[in-house]
Amino acid sequence: MTVDTIDRVAVLGAGSMGHGITEVIALAGYEVTMRDIEREFVDDGYESIEWSLEKLAEKGIIDEAPAEVLDRISTETDLETAVEDADLVIEAAPEKMDLKKDIFSDLDAFTPPDAILASNTSSLSITEIATATDRPDQVVGLHFFNPPVKMDLVEVIYGKKTSDETAETGYEFVESIGKTPIYVQKDVHGFVVNAVLGPFITEPAWMVSEGEADIRQADACMVYERGYPMGPFELSDMTGIDISYHVRNEAGMPIPPVMEEKIEAEEYGKKTGKGYYDYEDGDGADYEPDDAEGFDWLRVEACIINQAAEHIGNDVATAEAIDTGMRLGTGFPEGPCRRGDKLGLDTVLDKLRSLHEEYGEDRYEPSEYLVQLVEKGNTGEDAGAGFYEYGSGSDRSYTAISVEQDGGLLEVTLDRPERLNALNQDMMDEIVHLLDSIDTDEVRCITFEGAGEKAFCAGADITGFAGVDPHEKDITPVFEAVANVAVPTLAKIDGYCLGGGHELALACDLRIATEDSEFGFPEINLGLIPGGGGTQRAMRMLTEARAKELVFRGNRIDAETAEEWGLINRAVDDDEFDETVEAFLDDLVNGAPIALRKAKQVMNDGKDENIQAGLRMEAQAFGLLLGTEDMEEGAAAFMEKRDPEFEGK
Ligand code: NAD
Repeated sequence: MTVDTIDRVAVLGAGSMGHGITEVIALAGYEVTMRDIEREFVDDGYESIEWSLEKLAEKGIIDEAPAEVLDRISTETDLETAVEDADLVIEAAPEKMDLKKDIFSDLDAFTPPDAILASNTSSLSITEIATATDRPDQVVGLHFFNPPVKMDLVEVIYGKKTSDETAETGYEFVESIGKTPIYVQKDVHGFVVNAVLGPFITEPAWMVSEGEADIRQADACMVYERGYPMGPFELSDMTGIDISYHVRNEAGMPIPPVMEEKIEAEEYGKKTGKGYYDYEDGDGADYEPDDAEGFDWLRVEACIINQAAEHIGNDVATAEAIDTGMRLGTGFPEGPCRRGDKLGLDTVLDKLRSLHEEYGEDRYEPSEYLVQLVEKGNTGEDAGAGFYEYGSGSDRSYTAISVEQDGGLLEVTLDRPERLNALNQDMMDEIVHLLDSIDTDEVRCITFEGAGEKAFCAGADITGFAGVDPHEKDITPVFEAVANVAVPTLAKIDGYCLGGGHELALACDLRIATEDSEFGFPEINLGLIPGGGGTQRAMRMLTEARAKELVFRGNRIDAETAEEWGLINRAVDDDEFDETVEAFLDDLVNGAPIALRKAKQVMNDGKDENIQAGLRMEAQAFGLLLGTEDMEEGAAAFMEKRDPEFEGK
C-alpha cells in the first residue's frame, strides 16, 4: 500500500481522539468511516465534529463548507462494515492492551489483505498489538496529539516487525493530511515526546519532594526564565496527576513523593478542583515572575537533554525528529538538542555527573551517546558541532530559517510554523548571518515568507525574551540588516503579519499579501512599543494619522486597507498570489542588477536627507550607471527590440 492508493480510511473510536482524527482526515479530502461500539457514542462524536467544523468555518480557517466535509464522513457501529473496504484503519479505542489486541485480531480478519492497521496508542507497545495479527509488518503506530485538529504533530512508530514500506506510507499519509510526522524507529515506552517530556515533569517533582525547590519557584523559572509555555506542576494539573502516575506505575518507574501524596489525597489537578494548585478556593496556577529566583533549572534541562541523547544513541529517533516533536507536541520553545548545543554539552555532562555523584540515582547517569559527543569535542554550537553540525562561515546551517537559492533569487522562509514563525533570537541571528554572508554578485533579489499556512510572522517570541536583562536586548540588527541589504527584497505575506513580523516586512522594499492577511502592531497592548523600527518606518511610509492609529490602538487592519494606506504594494486573492509575486520577481531577478541596487541605495538614503542632498546622490549614481555594460546592453536590446540580458557589470 502506498499513500496514493489510500482512498478510504476507517477510524475506530469516536471519543476525544477518534472524532478529532476523523475530522482532520475528512478535511484533507479522504472518505472516512468512524466506528464506535454504540450508536450513541458515534452520534456524540459526529456532533462534536459538526460543532468543530462550524467553528473553523466561522473563523475562516477552512474554505470548504462544513456540510461538504461531513459528506465524506460516515458513521458505523458494526466493525466489519466499517473496515471491509478500508485501505487504512486508525484505532483510537481505550488504552487497554487486551481490548486493542481483540480489535486488531478482528481487523486482520475483516480488512482487505493489503490494508495498513494503525494504532493511536500513547503508551502501549505496537510490537505487542501487532502480535494479534498475521500481518505485523503492516501494523504501525500513528500517535496523534490532543486535540488532533489543532496539534500538528503525529509520531509514526515502528513496531519490531513494521516494514519500512508501511512506516513510509504512514509518514506520507500524515503529510497528506497537512500534519507533521516524525519517525519513532523503536516502540520504546513513551515513544519520543512523552519520554523526553518525562523529566520536565518529574525532575521538579523530585526537587520539591527533597525540599530543594518549591512548586511556584519551579513553574515561574521554567516559564519566565526558560521560555516553556507552562510550568511543570501547572502542566501536571492540566493533564491530570493520576495520568502521569498511572503511566509511570505501569512502566515500573519510581514515583516522586509529592506525586504520591496527591494521588493519596485524590487531588488529581484541575479536573478535581485541586492538584498542586487550588482551582476551587484558590487562584489556580498563581506563580509570578519573582518566584523564580534560585531554581536549579539546569538540573531539569540536563535530564531532558540526557533523555534525548539516550534516544538518539539507541536509534529511536534523530535529533531533528526529537526537536520537531518537542516543539510541535509540547510547545517547547526550542528542541532539547538545539538547547543542549547552545548550553554546551560539556556543561550538561558535568551537571549530570555531579548529580550522579551526589544522589547516586540511575536517572542521572549520562547517556553513552552524550559522553561520546563530548569526548569527540562536539560540545555544541560554539564548537561547530554537537547534536547538530553547525559548520562555520558560509557553511553554517540554520535551524529557525530555511534558505533556498534558485538562480539569482534567494528565498528565505521563517521556519517556526508551530509558533506562527515568531522571531526568536536564533531566527534573528540567522537572518543577520545569512545577509552578511551572501554573495551579492550572485543574488539579485531576496524574498521573505513564513512557513505553514497561517502566518508570515506573528511577532517576536516574547517567551524567548523572558528573563533577559532589557539593557542587553538589542533587537534592531535584524531589521537593519534586512533594510540595508544591497539587493531588492520582497515580503510574501500570507496570514498574520504582526509586531516584529510586521516590522520585518516593513524593512523589506516591497510587500505583496493575500487578501486574508492581517497587519498590526499589538505591542502597545503589552505595555511596549514596536522596537524594530516600526514606529519610524510606519511614520515615513504612511500618513502620520494612520501610523499613529496603528501604533497607539494596537489593532489590526486587513490587507485591502493596508494596500489602500500604502503599507503594501498589492493585496491579492489567494489564487492570484503566486502569479503576482512571480511578475514582481521577474522584474527584480532579471532587471539590471547594478541599477536596481543603486536605485535602492539612493531612494533609501535620500529619503532621510533634504531634497538637494538626495538629488546629489541620485546624480552621482546616474553618472556611475552611464558607464556600465548593463546600460549598453539595455540600450542595445531596446534598439533591437529584444529582452536585455544583464550581467551586473
Ligand atoms: P475516549 O475514552 O475518549 O474514547 C475511546 C472511545 O472508544 C470511546 O468512545 C469508546 O466507546 C470507544 N470504543 C471502545 N471499544 C471500542 C471498539 N472495540 N471499537 C471502537 N471503539 C471502541 O479515549 P481517547 O482519549 O479518545 O483515547 C483513545 C486512544 O487514543 C487511546 O489509545 C489513548 O491512549 C490515545 N490517545 C489519547 C490522547 C488523549 O489526550 N486523550 C492523546 C493521544 C493518544
